[in-house]
Amino acid sequence: MTTTVPQPTADTRWRCTLCGNLTRFDVTRSSRVVEYVHLDLAGEPKVEEREVLSETIESVRCRWCSAVDQIELVDRPGAGS
Ligand SMILES: [Zn+2]
Repeated sequence: MTTTVPQPTADTRWRCTLCGNLTRFDVTRSSRVVEYVHLDLAGEPKVEEREVLSETIESVRCRWCSAVDQIELVDRPGAGS
């Protein structure tokens, strides 16, 4: 499975190519995780640890203009200086 969404790094961030939104996105993510489930005596489960085995971002939708996967990477403020 391939993703068309670029991964932001320490120096870059997402930007919607249509409206310029930098801050608000709906991210659809699929992940494989191992959870340590601890049940109390009443049988109520609680996840105490979560280990992420793999994670894929499937799509990113802009909260402002609802464009899907119209995302580019731009430098964060102050990056590279
Ligand atoms: Zn947008």
